[in-house]
Amino acid sequence: MSEKRKRFSVGTPAADRLAARSERTSSGCLEWTGAINSAGYGSISIDGRSYVTHRLAWECEKGPIPDGLSVLHHCDNRRCIDTGHMFLGTVADNSADMVAKGRSLTGADNRASRLTDDQVRDLRRAYAAGGRTYTALAGEVGVSENVARLAIMGATWKHITDVPPCASRPQYRRRHQEAGRG
Ligand SMILES: [Zn+2]
Repeated sequence: MSEKRKRFSVGTPAADRLAARSERTSSGCLEWTGAINSAGYGSISIDGRSYVTHRLAWECEKGPIPDGLSVLHHCDNRRCIDTGHMFLGTVADNSADMVAKGRSLTGADNRASRLTDDQVRDLRRAYAAGGRTYTALAGEVGVSENVARLAIMGATWKHITDVPPCASRPQYRRRHQEAGRG
């Protein structure tokens, strides 16, 4: 283990232990620099018990984690212990979030992918043309609004550059500026 070993006396608050072995990264995450478990999450042993650091951080700052809920990362950084980057959700939420963000995907090669590269191009073109909402376009290709939106915005399917993402909502702007178009 490469972490700087700091000795804590029994009774040292967990929050202090977390703070002593974490650092703010350029991406804005507060990254645990101590041990990492097999799933890639931070791990800390306190008085003979092992804890997952992001869950411990949540409990220190926000209180107990309700039964049946997981502490999930918005930032996708499993070592991050910034509770501002976390939310409570179900395992199903996490799976949906993973698929939506393409965390485990590079594109249509992956089995979990619900869109083809061509569908993503079509979605982006259709959205840029205006007049249709994310929800409408999502319905047309049979994915959730979130999956469609992230693909259109370029948060996912980043490798598709020939049809650029539409980060803004051109059709809404156009609708306000030029009534009747879009
Ligand atoms: Zn983070």
